[in-house]
Amino acid sequence: MDGGCGCGQVRYTITATQPPVVYACHCTDCQTQSGSAFGLQMPVFEAMISVTGDMVSGERTLPSGAIGTIFCCSNCLIRIYSKNSTRPGMVVVRAGTLDASKQIVPKFHLWTKSKQPWITIPAEAISMKEQPTSLEEWMRLLTPEAA
Ligand SMILES: [Zn+2]
Ligand SMILES: [Zn+2]
Repeated sequence: MDGGCGCGQVRYTITATQPPVVYACHCTDCQTQSGSAFGLQMPVFEAMISVTGDMVSGERTLPSGAIGTIFCCSNCLIRIYSKNSTRPGMVVVRAGTLDASKQIVPKFHLWTKSKQPWITIPAEAISMKEQPTSLEEWMRLLTPEAA
């Protein structure tokens, strides 16, 4: 799976045997961060992604108290992925930067209690008012279904 920024300077490739799970997060933090209605997130292990091009990063303290670092193209400043200090070895790719972003269907929706009122969650999608509270639940949701 390939993707990149808007100006073409940053390109990345994700190597995985199965397409990683994508989810939509409707929390107000994702709304602010994306400047949009929700964040489209694809967590992958850092070892699975190789990036070419120059990125800059910015840090902030998340509502949970963890440090979030956002990595952007140094030229067009489009966000490529973020990291969370409590989840070392993971990066959360902004799934809209994938070349094949049209084919993405989020497997689940989080923080629907703060979703924009005009958004209707598809009936077949898993939706949660907030987010998983345990690592086990996260892992269960993020495990790709066997093809
Ligand atoms: Zn760029
Ligand atoms: Zn969020």
